[in-house]
This record gives sequence, C-alpha cells and structure tokens, in this order.
Amino acid sequence: MSQKIPFVTKEKLEEIVAKYPTPFHLYDETGIRRTARLLYKAFAWNKGFKEYFAVKATPNPYLLQILREEGCGADCSSYTELLMSDAVGFKESEIMFSSNATPAEDFQLARKLNVTINLDDITHIDFLEKVADIPDTVSCRYNPGGHFAIANNIMDNPGDAKYGMTHEQIIEAYKRLLAKGVKHFGMHAFLASNTVTNDYYPELARILFKVAVELKEKTGAHIEFINLSGGIGVAYRPEQQDNDLLAIGEGVRRVYEEILVPAGMGDVKIFTELGRFMLAPNGALVTKAIHQKHTYKEYIGCDACAANLMRPAIYGAYHHITVMGKENAPCDHKYDVTGGLCENSDKFAIDRMLPEIEIGDLLFIHDAGAHGFAMGYNYNGKLRSAEILLQEDGSAKMIRRAETPADYFATFDFSSEYGAKLAEEAAVKMPASK
Ligand SMILES: *Cc1c(COP(=O)(O)O)cnc(C)c1O
Repeated sequence: MSQKIPFVTKEKLEEIVAKYPTPFHLYDETGIRRTARLLYKAFAWNKGFKEYFAVKATPNPYLLQILREEGCGADCSSYTELLMSDAVGFKESEIMFSSNATPAEDFQLARKLNVTINLDDITHIDFLEKVADIPDTVSCRYNPGGHFAIANNIMDNPGDAKYGMTHEQIIEAYKRLLAKGVKHFGMHAFLASNTVTNDYYPELARILFKVAVELKEKTGAHIEFINLSGGIGVAYRPEQQDNDLLAIGEGVRRVYEEILVPAGMGDVKIFTELGRFMLAPNGALVTKAIHQKHTYKEYIGCDACAANLMRPAIYGAYHHITVMGKENAPCDHKYDVTGGLCENSDKFAIDRMLPEIEIGDLLFIHDAGAHGFAMGYNYNGKLRSAEILLQEDGSAKMIRRAETPADYFATFDFSSEYGAKLAEEAAVKMPASK
C-alpha cells in the first residue's frame, strides 16, 4: 500500500491559511509542469503530438497559462470555455472544440476564432454550415457502440453513451465533408472515463486506427490527427496502482507501428484531451475541522462542503484525506467527515479510519485538482471557494478569489425590487474576512 503525501508541508499550509482563509483549492505548479513534461516525453515518438487540456476539468486561466507554457492546447466544449482559452492566448489550432448538443452561438464563436471543430454528430455538418461555414479541417467523433472491454473486463458502455457517430455515419460524414471541400480530417473517441490501466489508450488507439485506415481507403480523406481524448485516470485510493504514462505512450506507439505505418499513415499526429490525469493529483481541497459531533456515529464537520467538491456526494467517489501534521499518527478513529449542506450525502468520507481530529486541524483532501472546483455549485447558498496556486518558488498566489454574498446575489441585479436591496445587504452585512 502506497502512501499519499500532500504536496505541501503543514508549516507552508499554515502560512497560506493565515493569508487566505479556508476552504480553498490549492494547486501545485511544480506537479502540473512535471505531469505535462511526462506526457510529452511519453509521446515524444510522435511528430506533432499535442495535449489539449480539457478546460472543463479545471477552468482557471492561470492554470491554463502554465499548461500553455508546457506546449499544451485547450479542449473546449462551451462558449465560455472558448472565451477563456482565447483570453489566455491559445490560437486557432491550439484549441479543440469538442462539444455536443452545440448551440449555434458556440459554433459561430468557434469559427470566428478559427479553432479546430470536432463534430459530435453527422447532422451537425448541415447545422454548422447553416449557422457559420465549414472549415478546411474538421474532426469527427466516433462511437463504436456496444461495450468497450479490455481483456474481457467491461470498462464502459459506448452503446449507451450520447456521444459520437456510428461506424456508418462517420464514413458518410467524411464523404459529405469532402464534398463540401474539407481538406484535412481528424478522428476522436472517448470510450471510458477514469481508467486505471495502462491498456486503455492502446486499446482505444487500436479501434480508432483501424477505422482511420478504413476511412482513408473508402473515402480518400487525408487524416491529419487522431485524438485519443480523455479518460486516463488517477489512483484516488492509496492501494491503487497509478497509471504508467511511459508504458501507455509505448503501448500506443506499438499499435501505431502495427496499423497506421503499414497503411502509409505514418504522418498522423496523435492528440490527447486529458483533464483528470493532468490536474487531479496536482490539486487539493483544503478545509478546516470546525466541529466534532458524537451521536450514533462520530462526525467531523468541515468548513468546506459538497458545493466545493461534489464527487463523493454524487459518485460515492473516494478522496484520500490527510490530517496535516498527523501523517504518522495511528488511524484509530472512525469518522464521517462532512460538510454543512442540508443533504446527508454531503460527506467527504464515510467510516474513514483517521488519526484523532481536533477542532482547527487542517484536512488536505487529495486529488481534487480536476472535476473539483469546476463542478462546484451554490446549493444551500454556499459560496464557491478561492483557488490558490502554490508556485514553483514556494510562494502562494490567489488565482481566484472566493465568492462573496454579492456574487451570489449578482444575478438579481436586473430587479429594482430586490437587486439594490440585496446588494446593500451583501455590502453591509458581509463579515470582514480575517
Ligand atoms: C471530459 C472530457 C475530457 C477529459 O476527460 P478526463 O477524464 O478528465 O481526462 C476530454 N475530452 C472530452 C470531449 C471530454 O468531454
């Protein structure tokens, strides 16, 4: 069993907490850069390899900028993600637009910014042409249907997923796009989420590469890139074995040599759209124990709640917790670690064996750097937390302030009945932050 070690010391964290009150999400610049470099190393064999970070996992421009400096692009799926990526400075083909059920305005913005569009459905060809126009380069999202299995283990159920085109449709889509003047093509598929096996990408690559060869033979299309999308997971549990990215890159290389090279497609670029793998372990939710409750169970009440990190509440997801400063103390207390929502599912951990927790202890909730803050919400009038970046030089920088009541009330600003009154309430009654 491996140990999960926080990327920050207790002393450093106390220094940060003195300046920025809990709860907050903390990100590790060193870890983010290390992960990006490892990914580029794993795919160094492929000329033109590019990671398009899935913005939805951690939509913060400061973090996007770090990834940009490491050579990554941005994978967007909405209007606002496009705006953010554009503001950070990603240009044209540095942005992949992998959306579904796409509104007209989103396609229009994608065309205005001239980003690479990845079409989710065959009917989107006509839709895109109607609301904007068809660019020179188009990618199509593929869904093989059925079950996706690795060595008889069913990983996921693409036949049930709303994404992508069927086999027949993607061939037809390429033909139609060729007729409309498209010159360069891409292919994309996302078949399983949060995989912790080195076989996912190679297996996915095998499926996509075979279809790519078929597409080239049947339509004559020039396939410029194949996008393996997201899905490489992280070991949320200490007893799980982490993915070995170098083994994954090597696995994809072998399939590439086996299928694409003999078909005369040795120039195809490999793209990825990883979110979780890039950021999850490089971010944590930091919260303070503010209550102890002894009823039928032992509870620790925190100043963060599911509104800051939703995965445990909605998926029953495991997130490891380190009680700062008690890393070596025996885990001889069984706790439910809860937030303050009026929802019994608002628990970061259930029946978790931890060291004895005292009020004021700082809890470091691991692997919250992707799909963490991003999935936050305002239920119960809870406010979103700040995001803090632990920079390479050891200093902490606020990269998003915490919401205030004024933010929560801001969408009433149209209303003369309540807008002004709520703004005044928020301004007057707001407790001074320490
Ligand atoms: C969510 C998503 C990703 C990222 O998935 P991870 O599991 O975070 O790696 C990539 N591409 C698309 C189209 C997605 O929807």
